[in-house]
Amino acid sequence: MSPIAPPSAILTVDQQVDALLARMTLEEKVGQMTQVVLEIVCNGESETDGTPQLDPAKLREAVIDQHVGSLLNVVTHGYTVETWRSIITEIQRVAAESRLQIPVIFGIDAVHGVNYTLGATLFPQNIALGATFRPALVEKAAAITAAQTRASAIPWNFSPVLDLGRQPLWPRFYETFSEDVLVTRQMGVAATVGTQGDPADLTHPAKVAGCLKHYIGYSVPYSGKDRTTALIPDHLLRELFLPPYRDAVAAGARTVMINSGDINGQPVHCSRYLLTEVLRDELGFDGVIVTDWEDIKKLHDVHCVAPTQREAVRMAVEAGIDMSMVPYDYSFAEHLLSLVQEGAISEARVDESVQRILRLKFELGLFDDPLLEAAWATPIGGDAADAVNRDAAREAMTLLKNEGDLLPLAPEAKILVTGPGADSILALNGGWTYTWQGQDDAYLPYYPDAQSILAAIRDHAARVTHVPGVSFSGEGDIDAAVAAAQEADVAVVVLGESAYAEKQGDLDDLALPAEQIQLAQAIAATGTPVVLVLLEGRPRVVTEAAHVSQAILMAYQPGMEGGKAVAEVLFGVVNPSGKLPCTYPLGSNDLITYDHTHTAGQGQVFGGIGQVRGYAPLFEFGHGLSYTTFAYSDLELAADVIGPKDAVRISVIVTNTGERTGAETVLVYVRDCFASVTPPVKRLRAFDKITLEPGESRRLTITIPTSELAFVGHNSQWILEPGDFEVQIAELSASFRLEA
Ligand code: BGC
Repeated sequence: MSPIAPPSAILTVDQQVDALLARMTLEEKVGQMTQVVLEIVCNGESETDGTPQLDPAKLREAVIDQHVGSLLNVVTHGYTVETWRSIITEIQRVAAESRLQIPVIFGIDAVHGVNYTLGATLFPQNIALGATFRPALVEKAAAITAAQTRASAIPWNFSPVLDLGRQPLWPRFYETFSEDVLVTRQMGVAATVGTQGDPADLTHPAKVAGCLKHYIGYSVPYSGKDRTTALIPDHLLRELFLPPYRDAVAAGARTVMINSGDINGQPVHCSRYLLTEVLRDELGFDGVIVTDWEDIKKLHDVHCVAPTQREAVRMAVEAGIDMSMVPYDYSFAEHLLSLVQEGAISEARVDESVQRILRLKFELGLFDDPLLEAAWATPIGGDAADAVNRDAAREAMTLLKNEGDLLPLAPEAKILVTGPGADSILALNGGWTYTWQGQDDAYLPYYPDAQSILAAIRDHAARVTHVPGVSFSGEGDIDAAVAAAQEADVAVVVLGESAYAEKQGDLDDLALPAEQIQLAQAIAATGTPVVLVLLEGRPRVVTEAAHVSQAILMAYQPGMEGGKAVAEVLFGVVNPSGKLPCTYPLGSNDLITYDHTHTAGQGQVFGGIGQVRGYAPLFEFGHGLSYTTFAYSDLELAADVIGPKDAVRISVIVTNTGERTGAETVLVYVRDCFASVTPPVKRLRAFDKITLEPGESRRLTITIPTSELAFVGHNSQWILEPGDFEVQIAELSASFRLEA
């Protein structure tokens, strides 16, 4: 297709934006700020081949009559790359017939690979990527995702998620990288750079615009239910939840999506404080702020802070949003138009948002190449991407327990494979896999190389029996699995969760369904050793099953290569090196993160009379075993008194004391001994993953800028407070004093 409106080579992007804006009517401007879902310009999907049936009249209504700036999503499921290209071609063809020929920007959720393009590489979900502790892998995965998104003719990915996984009940926990802020910051920057590359060169054929979401505090609803109320004091909002956004904005992120919930009594979509004062003025974000799904309407319908829909639009626009994911009608534009016409919102305010949206379109090269044809040579899937995917899945595998070295398994062992996750490829992937909920296996043939855990185990061992035991919802035949266990040398019991996304994954109980636990217990009662494999998007409570299992492998939702990676670890082809990016709770009410306050973790009864259970999760944040062993020694600090402008220089020797090559993530914690705001018992301040040969020792040097020791005070300002600190690495510790 030929260019719609070739820009003049001599004009800067800002000049082109201004020239275009000057020609726009108010109707065209509010249209640019509108985003609608693909479904409303389609008559469903073809019953024969599933392709969306674009309705020419509805498409013209959206793009020509309503001037919409953006479309998103699928009708009900993912499409082939050819289908995507033809949908986008048709949309941009109509856009080219509009008065000003402004291309539409299409956005998609490609959250673990391009999950809506059939055959695209589907990576582990973010929580599994967090367990790798390898930002470089996250960057590579994001880069592959970006290239395959653009090859699908889509220039905008609603990713990465920068929420912190601190509330395991929350159904989007698996979309987060970690409970820890430093891990999330580093993974978030890596994902942003992988997605966008050089933000000044978004026309690059392998890059797309990223979207940091869901700003801010979305992940810690106190009920655990999706899109509900969070109570976050300002100092914690700034100290824990803001820094991932701050760093990714500094790395050039071009768009941000807003949290659908409310914090401290105010929906984020109408918080001028959070959207304008913090995100724009403090963080310096100059890109596009897009709402989440129907969230302006919900200011009226759900949050009840706006007495009318019109007032909801006014509040959100005045708070700072640029684009409304309406997404089923054109009401946003209608209300905004009348608000401006009646003087309730200035046209200058609308212009600011339209400028940002147009700038994004110019930056992405949509005016020159609206179909992104320069990217079409990129393969969807392919061996090179699969290799990165396999690395990611392997490095995510987290060995939590291995009593008596039950693992690795011998290939000649008689193995029972059981449990609801054993033969499920969809459970390896979780939500956002071909469909939003990830539960339709009709599209699995597009990924012929994927193997379930069972199929992959069969590639390593000849004497394998499969008895499902129970399903995810608890039905089944435990007795049949028990009978098979009696004949086996070892039982691999794959428990966990089937796929879910967003609110559909809300829980009333963090415990796994009782039948799943009973399956593990009944098998263990036969005396056959149990290897528990956990396939789950969040740390569901499994304590009774864990206690009767000799080995436990946390597989998270490891993606299309995950079945192979699990088997490779079980048979010792791969030495596991993942570490928990979150605390694994012991019970449903044991929801304490590793960086809790002293009070939250206290186990001492008054007067020192005795002990009660304090912070004692099933497995701690950072826990993860290897088939080799590592020893730490010689922790040294370059100075035990440092000034506020110095850095903490640490060195430590790590030795592989076992007999296999292995990778170890060195976790460097710092405790601020006394502070004017209740300090956490410790905070991760640096990490590094190194590979050591058997017998090899390496002295690692780690530098932590003192600015990283600052915290947010009662006045909401960052402060670096002098005092005593303690560095902790594994069992070693060393103290230093920070001077004023
Ligand atoms: C989700 C977002 C997503 C959007 C578009 C919403 O329901 O919260 O994460 O980007 O839908 O699909």
